[in-house]
Amino acid sequence: MQSTMMNVQLTTAAILRHGARVHATARVRTLQPDGSVRTGTFAEVGRRSAQLAHALRACGVVGDERVATLMWNNQEHVEAYCAVPSMGAVLHTLNPRLTPEQLVYIANHADDRVVIVDGTLAPLLAAVLPQLAEVHTVVVTGGVDLAPLERDGLTVVGYDDFIGGHLETFEWPELDELSAAAMCYTSGTTGNPKGVAYSHRSTYLHSMAACAADGLSVTGDDAILAIVPMFHANAWGLVYAALMAGADLVMPERFLQAEPLVRLISSERPTIAGAVPTIWSDVLNHLDSNPGHDISSLGLVACGGSAVPLHLMKAFQEKYGVQIVQAWGMTETSPLAAIARPPAAVEGEEHWALRASQGRPVAGVELRLIDDDGNEVPHDGKSVGEIQVRGPWITGSYIGDEDAEKFDDGWLRTGDVGRIDERSFVTLTDRAKDVIKSGGEWISSVELELLLAGHPDVLEATVIGVPDEKWQERPLAVIVVRDGSEVTPSQLRDFLEGKVAKWWLPERWCFVPDVPKTSVGKFDKKLLRARHADGDLA
Ligand code: ADP
Repeated sequence: MQSTMMNVQLTTAAILRHGARVHATARVRTLQPDGSVRTGTFAEVGRRSAQLAHALRACGVVGDERVATLMWNNQEHVEAYCAVPSMGAVLHTLNPRLTPEQLVYIANHADDRVVIVDGTLAPLLAAVLPQLAEVHTVVVTGGVDLAPLERDGLTVVGYDDFIGGHLETFEWPELDELSAAAMCYTSGTTGNPKGVAYSHRSTYLHSMAACAADGLSVTGDDAILAIVPMFHANAWGLVYAALMAGADLVMPERFLQAEPLVRLISSERPTIAGAVPTIWSDVLNHLDSNPGHDISSLGLVACGGSAVPLHLMKAFQEKYGVQIVQAWGMTETSPLAAIARPPAAVEGEEHWALRASQGRPVAGVELRLIDDDGNEVPHDGKSVGEIQVRGPWITGSYIGDEDAEKFDDGWLRTGDVGRIDERSFVTLTDRAKDVIKSGGEWISSVELELLLAGHPDVLEATVIGVPDEKWQERPLAVIVVRDGSEVTPSQLRDFLEGKVAKWWLPERWCFVPDVPKTSVGKFDKKLLRARHADGDLA
């Protein structure tokens, strides 16, 4: 029997229409260089998105051609998020922190035709532009000098001039919900960047999951501080979730250091925020050394991208009344796949243990654990395997890449290794590529670094495997000591003693002023491994 329900396609245009009409007075608030905040209503975003779509058509964008952005989080970027996919083109968010070689590779692989670039990033684009053969138009925001970008055969235009004069309504086409809306490349922490294409349907469903009460519980009374960049896995879905729910968006632009972020939180009073752990660790450090700031408006801080140290969550909650909620996902999973929200009945240390886990899958996402022999292992909280995932917003392939290795009978192999308990809470012990194999046994680098990060004198800790003649590999702990603190390797070993198996205790230690980070703010273990490959501890 067929259902009697309408077959209405789930598209970004539907999200935009809803946001601009139903939540017309909700606002995008963008931090300016002078500390002031520029605001635009969702109604205005709707009108300007229509103008942007007309302008893109007028410059030749047809069908599902790719329009790239090289931008920070601001209102123009929200307009691109709305206009580009809704007109049928595909939005490709480029990460300005990638190397020029990676940018060239990704933009050419994606076949980008137009680039919308933030004025402050124009020099970066200018340096790679000669190698982007297919790009015919560059649109620059921020009223900067366009001359450095100009060259034969290329149209270079300021954003406001580009959209100005165009109609403020657009006949958004009826699109197939399975067609591509946006694309994103993995940041390449573990190898060459791979691209995934989100569909309109996956974007719509993922936004609903983000809004749900057991997701990030976004409502029209919220203001979302999107610190996670819009080029990092769609800003974790926060932009479309805001349009759906009518929540304000508070956008920090390029001002992602703790000091401006704390000022922005105090003045704009967001209720929800999202960023990777290293950002929150900087914010905590700043708050602790500069007392008197009020960040109590934050009801929920979504944190993920790498494991969130328990002490960070406890410090925010106990000192500042702010709840950090850990979420787990990947570029390939849109990204929200699991979220650590323990049942209310679970209290005390058990509550914290679940908060420190990577969480339970959100509705729509299924997980399974597979061992080295390809067998499914039980969800008993003890058995370890690779986490595999499937669902309507999980990628089933990579763009132009037949890497069958990454898929297993309709499931995505995440490359993450961990356990799942009877209640479906996932605990990630490592990325397969970061696991340390010592004397034939596994050492979890994540567990060691989370414990070390809990030491009062340690600001940052990361652990990698380094070659060892006797044991094949041994852990090397790379430590950043807090300002004004001192700590020795033997004190840190004592601190770990009893918390992990004795043979896990690192004998190699390295103290550094800061741990190198990837383009999305994670510890760059690939770089660290290369740096210490010959046993050098400096
Ligand atoms: P990249 O693969 O380049 O780092 P992604 O942002 O897509 O870019 O990274 C996804 C990976 O980040 C996951 O496979 C997992 O290893 C890690 N990750 C994400 N969230 C968490 C979390 N809450 N705890 C631990 N690791 C996480």
